[in-house]
Amino acid sequence: MLKRWETIYGIDLGTCNTVIYERDKGIVLHEPSVVAYRQDTQEILAVGASAQAMIGRAPNHVEIAYPLMNGVIANFDLASSMLKHFVQKLQGRGLFRRSSKVYISVPCGITNVQRRAVEETLMQKGMHKPVAVEEPLAAALGAQLPIDEPVGHLVVDIGGGTSQVAIISLGGIVASHTIPRAGMSIDRDIMDYVKRKYNMQIGERTAETIKMQVGSATLSSEERSIEIRGRDLVAGLPRSLRISSKEIFSVIDDYLASLVEAIRATLDQCPPELAGDMVEQGILLCGGGALLEGIDERIRKETGVPVMIAEKPLECTALGTGVLLEAALGMRRSAKAAVKQPVQAAE
Ligand code: ADP
Ligand code: MG
Repeated sequence: MLKRWETIYGIDLGTCNTVIYERDKGIVLHEPSVVAYRQDTQEILAVGASAQAMIGRAPNHVEIAYPLMNGVIANFDLASSMLKHFVQKLQGRGLFRRSSKVYISVPCGITNVQRRAVEETLMQKGMHKPVAVEEPLAAALGAQLPIDEPVGHLVVDIGGGTSQVAIISLGGIVASHTIPRAGMSIDRDIMDYVKRKYNMQIGERTAETIKMQVGSATLSSEERSIEIRGRDLVAGLPRSLRISSKEIFSVIDDYLASLVEAIRATLDQCPPELAGDMVEQGILLCGGGALLEGIDERIRKETGVPVMIAEKPLECTALGTGVLLEAALGMRRSAKAAVKQPVQAAE
């Protein structure tokens, strides 16, 4: 049980964004999972939004990295420094100074060794018994699905590095499928396309802006376009051009086909009783990719299953992680089943 002076945190350590929920306060931190450091001394120069602002603009001796890549921790030391920095930021505002309990949701590709190391990193920051939980469960809870009932739900989490499809029932994962393609690989596809088609090199952030502003999962009747800047590969000089939503649709299409394929493959593994639930309950979309225009309509069309988008797709995992902890401490009645089953990560 929680003592009066203790507090509860739910942390979503994502490939693209780290989000922290605090009980009674809501989301208290939402920053890009990015670190900038000196190549020679490894000294950390910036973390989060300020590191992200340096992408594509930093001098040669500065390296900018996403410590998590494709759903696994690619650089553990950096990931740990980043997490410490974020916690410090909250402590600086007096939030973490009280003793606290914390659950952290981690990518499902993480090894048990890495999971324990993440927990230890948090322990060094004065947190009691941190527990790593599975992302899809947390996301579903954060989107207010009653996951501990004997009813199946299908959750599709489109993050930065991976797209995870999971069928959840009675607080556990019944079937799941993860593909190493999501928001960041769409950005890379857009960069490749512009290079191939226009002989122009653009940065990651420009590619992401194109995706957010004119990207679409359906071919809408209304054509939009955006002016972008980059470097001409032939002349080697700066140049700008207009790119249309129709072109970007064709680039994103390939990713969407593999996402739908992953959803089908997961439904294929689904026990028949639960398959009926899917048709009735529909698919829940979460993660930043759920904000891609028309993605719900596209999935509905191709699977024949109703689709809904989480109310706060970027924040529901952090929120659900906190809710799981509250349930484990007996502060909530829901989601008890979810915490009865210890989470197993891949070894
Ligand atoms: P992670 O859990 O891996 O950290 P998030 O759930 O935070 O990832 O989602 C980040 C991804 O969502 C990024 O690739 C980002 O480009 C993408 N994204 C955010 N907003 C939009 C949008 N409006 N349209 C399309 N993609 C978006
Ligand atoms: Mg995520």
